[in-house]
Amino acid sequence: MASLSLKHINKTYPNGFEAVKDFNLEIEDKEFIIFVGPSGCGKSTTLRMIAGLEEITSGELKIGDKVVNDVEPKDRDIAMVFQNYALYPHMTVYDNMAFGLKLRKVPKDEIDRMVKEAAKILDLESLLDRKPKALSGGQRQRVAMGRAIVRNPKVFLMDEPLSNLDAKLRGQMRIEISKLHQRLGTTIIYVTHDQTEAMTLGTRIVVMSAGIVQQVDTPQVLYDTPCNLFVAGFIGSPQMNFLDATCKVNGNKVALEVGGAAIELPPAKAKKLIEGGYDGKTVVLGIRPEDVHDEPMFIASSPNTVIESKIRVYEMLGAEVYLYFDYAGASMTARVDPRTTARTGDTVKFAFDAEKIHVFDKETECTIT
Ligand code: ATP
Repeated sequence: MASLSLKHINKTYPNGFEAVKDFNLEIEDKEFIIFVGPSGCGKSTTLRMIAGLEEITSGELKIGDKVVNDVEPKDRDIAMVFQNYALYPHMTVYDNMAFGLKLRKVPKDEIDRMVKEAAKILDLESLLDRKPKALSGGQRQRVAMGRAIVRNPKVFLMDEPLSNLDAKLRGQMRIEISKLHQRLGTTIIYVTHDQTEAMTLGTRIVVMSAGIVQQVDTPQVLYDTPCNLFVAGFIGSPQMNFLDATCKVNGNKVALEVGGAAIELPPAKAKKLIEGGYDGKTVVLGIRPEDVHDEPMFIASSPNTVIESKIRVYEMLGAEVYLYFDYAGASMTARVDPRTTARTGDTVKFAFDAEKIHVFDKETECTIT
C-alpha cells in the first residue's frame, strides 16, 4: 500500500515565513498527483516534507498506515527525482543506477538484475557504459528516473523533473513518465509550475497559491468548474478572459452588462445569481478563449451576446488562430478556427457561448456559477 495522508500540515521556516498553511490531502495508492502553482506557492516545501528533507512544523503525515513525521528520509520508502538530475559525472550510466543499491549492500547479481530491468523499461540498455557527459538531456533525465526506479520505492516524488529540457523533449518525456506510471503502478507526486504538464499527467491536481491549497480535482473538473478566480486564471492556456460586469435581474432573467452589451445568462446560471442577491452588483465574468466565437461560428441560441472589437493581433498556430482584442478595458483572446478571415486591424463581431460563461464574486473571488 502506498497511500499517503496529509492532515493539517503546516510549515513555518525558522525566519517565521509560513510557506505551507493547513495542507490536507488523502492520496490513494497508484495515484498520479500534481502540485501546481506559481513560483513560491509552497509546492517544493510540501514535497520536501513528504520526502523528509524538511521538518513538518505541525500536522500529521502518513505513508500507508504509518505516521512518518519523525522517520528518516531513507526509511520512508520513497524515491525523489529532482530537476538537476545530479548524476555522478565520473560514473557510467550503469554505476549511476547501481550506486544507491551498492550503498545498501544489495548482492551484486541482484543489483545487475534490477539495473538491467530499469534500463529496459527506460530504453537505456544501449547506453549503460556511457558517462553522463556523453548523453543528451533527455537521456540524462531517464538515467535519473532509472536511479529512482531501481530502488523499487512505494512512492515517487518528482520536483520539476523536466524543467531543464527543451519544449520538444519535455513533450516526449511527459509521455515517457505517463507510460512509466502505468507500467510501475506506483504512486507519484509531481511538482510543476507548468499547467500543461499538470493537465496531461495528473490523475488529480492540487492547485496551490501562497501556501494554501485552492482546489484538488481531476484535470477536467478543474478546467470546467474552477472554484475561484485564481484557479480559473491559472488552469488553461491561453488563460480565461475576465471582464467586470454588472448583474441586472429582471424577473427570472439575468443579464450581465459589460461595455454596452447585455449578456443574458442561461436559466441555471441566472438562478444562482438571483439566489445570491447579486442584482445591481459588479461581478467578474469569465470566458475561455475557445468559447469566444467569431462570426461564422456564432452560437445561434444566444445572438444577444454579440460584441464588437478591433483585432489587435492575429496569431496563426497552424491548427488554430488566436485573435487578441480589447473589450471594456480588458485584454481578450479568442481561439478560433484557422479558416477565419479576421486579420489584425479588422473590426470583428464576437459572441460568447452563454452556457460556458463563468461568474465570480468580485470581492471573495469565489465562483458563483
Ligand atoms: P518554485 O516553483 O519557485 O520552486 P515553490 O512553490 O516550490 O516555488 P517553495 O520552494 O516551496 O515554493 O517555497 C515556498 C516559499 O517558502 C517561498 O516564498 C520561499 O521563498 C520560502 N522558503 C523556501 N525555503 C525557505 C527557507 N529555508 N527559509 C525561509 N523561507 C523559505
